[in-house]
Amino acid sequence: MTTAHQQHALPSYLNPDDLGPWGVYLQQIDRVTPHLGNLSRWVETLKRPKRILTVDVPIERDDGSIAHYEGYRVQHNMSRGPGKGGVRFHQDVTLSEVMALSAWMTVKNAAVNVPYGGAKGGIRVDPKTLSRGELQRLTRRYTSEISLIIGPNKDIPAPDVNTNEQVMAWMMDSYAMIEGNLSTGVVTGKPISLGGSLGRREATGRGVFVTGREAAIKRGVEIHGARVAIQGFGNVGGVAATMFADAGAKVVAVQDHTGTVVHQGGLDIARLHQHVAECGSVTGFPGAEAFLERDAFWDIESEILIPAALEQQITADNAPRIRTKIILEGANGPTTPEADDILTDKDVLIVPDVLANAGGVTVSYFEWVQDFSSFFWSEDEINARLTRIMQDAFNAVWSVSQEKKVTLRTATFILACTRVLQAREVRGLYP
Ligand code: NAD
Repeated sequence: MTTAHQQHALPSYLNPDDLGPWGVYLQQIDRVTPHLGNLSRWVETLKRPKRILTVDVPIERDDGSIAHYEGYRVQHNMSRGPGKGGVRFHQDVTLSEVMALSAWMTVKNAAVNVPYGGAKGGIRVDPKTLSRGELQRLTRRYTSEISLIIGPNKDIPAPDVNTNEQVMAWMMDSYAMIEGNLSTGVVTGKPISLGGSLGRREATGRGVFVTGREAAIKRGVEIHGARVAIQGFGNVGGVAATMFADAGAKVVAVQDHTGTVVHQGGLDIARLHQHVAECGSVTGFPGAEAFLERDAFWDIESEILIPAALEQQITADNAPRIRTKIILEGANGPTTPEADDILTDKDVLIVPDVLANAGGVTVSYFEWVQDFSSFFWSEDEINARLTRIMQDAFNAVWSVSQEKKVTLRTATFILACTRVLQAREVRGLYP
């Protein structure tokens, strides 16, 4: 007979001394559990991914040697629909990280009410060390290995850190070759020429901007003239920077993996994009007043701070130094629970990742719908629908946070986990 203790034990594949990002997610679930009422009897489902696939990805390098990489696809929960979530290529990818990212996808998809479960994939590789040909072989072999569990009605990958439209095109083509059919809907974030959606590339940054605008209204911050500091200048941070600058905000600092550029009067974002395209990083940008060491970024005063790089960047160490009014989590999992508490005590309004960066998956959903119907929408239509969904989601979360007197993160989890567990309950357990 299973005891209560055994039932709540950690899955055996986890190291209890170092849970990594999955540990952060578990703490977030513990915070929401008291608010789930009778549904809390299902909460253990959220603490265990439904399915984990670990794959060996061997490729022949250009020099004739054979290299092996470790890849994952984790399907956290599929009660509300097929799995959905990106694929990350990064040298620090771990199973714990992919598990946490898959779980945050479950929460995010339910928060904006798109009919998906949560999934995520990754390969432990530094793609900068690979040639284009090697990257293509890696992507195709990985797709073939996970093709057992992905598909337009099963699990639909998308881009994440270091993966892009080209990687999605290779994934779609590999899957189509294996299945012997077109399979456009197997991935989103594809090039337009392969059934991609207008507005997808900008969607996450746009969603960050839209939720930021709503949060600014609640906090009485005027976007025009507001000082914005951004960590990460890629797909998410780069687009958010452009949108805030276009709305009259002053982007006073941008940090990437090489350092921080600062201009108190506001960086010229269009020129910064051009510089990064030419030089590969923000370092050396001639339009900056100053260059700072990476850690000094957290001392820069702002009205809006946007972490849009990697997880666990805002910690108990740097949170006390942060002087801002609103944090918009463009990245997934950028704030540790300890930092969350410190900042909440300092009256900083945190718009959590599972809400702020949900614009990407929302337009991925539009892409998937357009692929199924082979009927494509205009960019204006897409942006208008995205804006409405993000605004509605923000306001629904805001109401829960006011009613229950909880942070926006806990409110988003309450709303989302309730939706997931309601679906779980009406399905019942199989067999
Ligand atoms: P990207 O690869 O396009 O850009 C990442 C940026 O972060 C780059 O500017 C890089 O220089 C910077 N960076 C990397 N390591 C850093 C470090 N240690 N310190 C400071 N900066 C660093 O990635 P992206 O697609 O913009 O994703 C960024 C984050 O947003 C990730 O957490 C990702 O999971 C999340 N996210 C992305 C999407 C999407 O649609 N792309 C959707 C939702 C969430």
